[in-house]
Order: sequence, then C-alpha cells, then structure tokens
Amino acid sequence: MEHLDIIMQNAQQAFETFRYSTGNTRKSLLYAIAEALENDREAIISAACAETNLPEVRFSGELGRTCMQLRMFGDIAGEGSWVEPVIDTADDHRKPFRRPDMRKMLIPCGPVVVFGASNFPLAYSTPGGDTASALAAGCPVIVKMHPAHPQTARLCRNAISHAIEKSGLPLSLFQLVDDPGFETGKYLVQHKLTAGVGFTGSLSGGRAIYDYAQQRDNPIPVFSEMGSVNPVILMQEAISTKGHEIAKTLGASILMGVGQFCTNPGILIGVKGEILDEFMHLLTTEISQHPAYKMLHRGIYENYHQSMEQALVQKGVDVIYKHGESEDLKAPAVLAKVSAKTFLENPLLREEVFGPFSLFVCCDHLHELEKVWSSFAGQLTTSVFGTDTELLRCEAMIRNCAGFAGRIVFNGAPTGVEVAHATVHGGPYPATTDSRFTSVGADAIKRWVRPVCWQDCPDFLLPDALKNENPLHLWRKINQSFSKEKI
Ligand code: NAP
Repeated sequence: MEHLDIIMQNAQQAFETFRYSTGNTRKSLLYAIAEALENDREAIISAACAETNLPEVRFSGELGRTCMQLRMFGDIAGEGSWVEPVIDTADDHRKPFRRPDMRKMLIPCGPVVVFGASNFPLAYSTPGGDTASALAAGCPVIVKMHPAHPQTARLCRNAISHAIEKSGLPLSLFQLVDDPGFETGKYLVQHKLTAGVGFTGSLSGGRAIYDYAQQRDNPIPVFSEMGSVNPVILMQEAISTKGHEIAKTLGASILMGVGQFCTNPGILIGVKGEILDEFMHLLTTEISQHPAYKMLHRGIYENYHQSMEQALVQKGVDVIYKHGESEDLKAPAVLAKVSAKTFLENPLLREEVFGPFSLFVCCDHLHELEKVWSSFAGQLTTSVFGTDTELLRCEAMIRNCAGFAGRIVFNGAPTGVEVAHATVHGGPYPATTDSRFTSVGADAIKRWVRPVCWQDCPDFLLPDALKNENPLHLWRKINQSFSKEKI
C-alpha cells in the first residue's frame, strides 16, 4: 500500500497551502473544473452510457447538475460567509470577571476520502457533491473510484487535473485511486492523514467504512449516505380526485434510473378499500406501459433479484404486478401489497429493495396508517399525497415524521433531489451515519470543517474573516446580531 501512502502525503502537502487559499481562488478552481468537464462532455457522457447501461439523456442531465453543483460551491466559497464568523467582543467591566474577546469560525479539516457511488457516476462520484464541497472548504480530495465506471472516473479525473493545473494549484489537490477492493478502502479510511470520509452506497458498505474510522487511534468523521425506503402516504381524497396524476408521478419515480436511486419510493401506504384498489390499478397501468431496462451492473442486478424475491416470499405478501421480461440485466418492475398488521410484524419488509420495486402497505384505518408511518427508522425522505383538508386533519402525524426523515415531500415524488441552499439529503441512521449533516446542497460543505475559537487574539493575528475591519465583507454575528459592519 506504499502508493496510497504517497497519495496521502501529497494530499497533506497540498492541504498545507490550499487551506489558506482565498475564497475567490477556490471559486475560480471550481468554475474551471465545471468548464473542463463541459469541454469533455461528449467523451464523458459516452463512457458513462457504455459503463452503466443508462441512456444519454440521463447523463446529459447529470453532467449539467454536476457542473451546477461545482459552480454553486464556487459561489459559496467566493462569497465566504459560509465560515460562519461569530464575534463576542470583550467586556472589561463585566463583574465579577472580565469577558474575554471570543471569535470563532469554521476551518477546513484536512484531506478527505470520497467513495464514488455506482448509481451516480458524475453527481455523486469523481466530480460530485462530495468533491465539490470539500474543495470549496479548502480540503484536498482522494476519490476511491467505483469499479463499475472506471473509464468515466478517469476522464473526469483528467478534466479536474487539467483545471487544477490551469489554475496554478498543486495537482495533488485531487487524486483518483483506481485499485478496487475493500482493503484499499479500509487502508484509506484508516490512514493517519485522512481527516474525513464521504460515502454513498449500501448500508453494509457505509457501516463498514464508519466502523473502520471508529477503530482508528484517532476516530474521524464519516458521512455515509446509505439505504432508504422513502415511505409515501396516500391519503384517500387525494388519490380519489387526482389518482391519474399521482399514479403518473409515482410511476415515473419508481422507474426513474431503473429504480436505482436512494430516494426511490419503496413503500406506499394507504387505507384499504375501493379507492386504494383503484389507485393500485392506475399505478399498474402506468408502470406496465414501460419496458424493463438494464441495471447498472451484475452485482446490483443480482442483489435486486435476491432482495425482491426475499420480499415476495414473505408471508402475506401478494404480487400486484410483475414485468414479464427476463432478459439478462433487465430489471422487472414489481408492485406488491401486504396488510399493515403483517408489515408491522415483519422487519424484513422494510429493508431496501434497490431497483424498481414498491410495496403497498394496506391499513384498516387512519389510526393504523399513523402507526405504520411512525414505525420507520431513519429515512432520507418521506412523502405525503393529500388534499389541504387531509393534511390539516393529519397535522400531528405529519409533524411526527420529522423525527425519522431528512426531507418531507408534499404532493410530489421523493426522487429528483433539488440542489439548493435549503436541501437536506440526510436523515437518522440507517439513512446516514450522521443525521446532523446533508450530502447534497450548500450545507454539505459543513462536513469538512471544524470550528475554532480565538480568545483575546491580537487583530493582526486573526484570520481575515474575524478581523475588526471585516476586509472580506462577510456576514458575521457580532454580539448576537448579524451584520457586515466593521468593529
Ligand atoms: P457498495 O457495495 O456499498 O460499494 C460502494 C463502495 O464502497 C465501493 O467502492 C466498494 O468497494 C466500497 N465498499 C463496500 N463495502 C466495503 C467494505 N466492507 N469495506 C471497504 N469498502 C467497501 O455499493 P454499490 O457497489 O454501489 O452497490 C451495491 C448495493 O448497494 C446495491 O445493490 C444497492 O443495494 C446498494 N446501493 C444503495 C445506494 C443508495 O443510495 N441507497 C446506492 C448505491 C448502491 P469496491 O470498489 O472494492 O467494490
């Protein structure tokens, strides 16, 4: 593993200067990376299509999203207030003791190891949100390539390296590790120079990586984003008045990316009866209009079959619809149903089936629906389809679901995660290993920093963000009020 030691040492060396780079330097770098990716667009998209079985239109969108993400973090770095400067000025006359001058801000933590995701070769892998947010924070990045898309990863690495070189920054700000194998990942996580880890993938993988980090002499933060079944509540009035529209929305969401999204709606919950039966029929009609598509790779395909079949053989589970096609790597879309009572008794039924699979949970009444909804462990999302009257009637139940979900979606699908400043793509374990953070959106940068407080520090020694003059014109919290004023 000598080559990994060299990679980590180079990253640490780059950190020594990059940590003090200006926000505008990081902004220019992130913009240059976006431009370099766009320049190599054709080659990257064609490699991604060839390596994943997904269509060009998907990667056209994913590349656009990736570049938008890079520029968003560039703007955040350039503006600079993300370091959250807080200043409590001294009070020499406070009794019985003087209040010292206290100033704090966020600083970058050091080299960050990122595990690329199989299902998003661009937006959650080599040039993805983890890389963009870590570089914006001032941290060098080491990506452990996902073995399912090596050529795409290398082309992205070349574009990133080109942009770094053009910006006159150290090339080892970004390095790609392309040897597969769990030992490589473990070594990187446990390397003494690694300061943080970002991961997107399976629960078993994310948990293993978290455990490696905790076994170190000096444990480090690991931000694993793992599985989720994303429960969806179907209120009766909504599905009886807007059934077609909701079936269209959910059908597209279940099939999107051949179901290989962490926000895929895996569990659909409603009160049993004619209205829910009719909705099942509408959703079946929607889904059955589409052919089966190929999954990302054999491992995921086999895993889909195994976990889907495991769900279908459970006592009380009935198939509503199963696509007939069985060609190699093509995933049959499946809808099934089970009673709420059986669902509540069988923990296997709430495990993620990674693919185009959704299970209806049929409740006897609203009270039972509430019981099912409140029974979930951590989830990335939960959604509710309801009229205003229904939502109002269920206000307490909706308030409670914030206890287990990172994002609550009203009358919409959980897939298609918006990259915004308010986005939360996280949630309590097992959705992630740290529910206080998000892996998508502006606050993803907060994973790669730690706060430091300067007490009674002379002005000339303070970082610019905390100097009296406020030379960077940042928003700062001074004696409990936000302002851009000098002190
Ligand atoms: P994965 O198996 O979790 O692998 C992701 C990365 O983590 C790979 O680079 C892998 O290393 C590494 N890894 C996994 N287990 C490890 C361990 N014990 N020690 C060290 N490194 C480890 O995910 P995947 O390959 O993308 O897909 C497998 C399954 O994960 C899917 O079938 C699906 O069920 C689930 N998945 C879920 C999501 C989600 O967002 N919820 C996304 C993707 C996948 P190698 O390079 O050596 O393989």
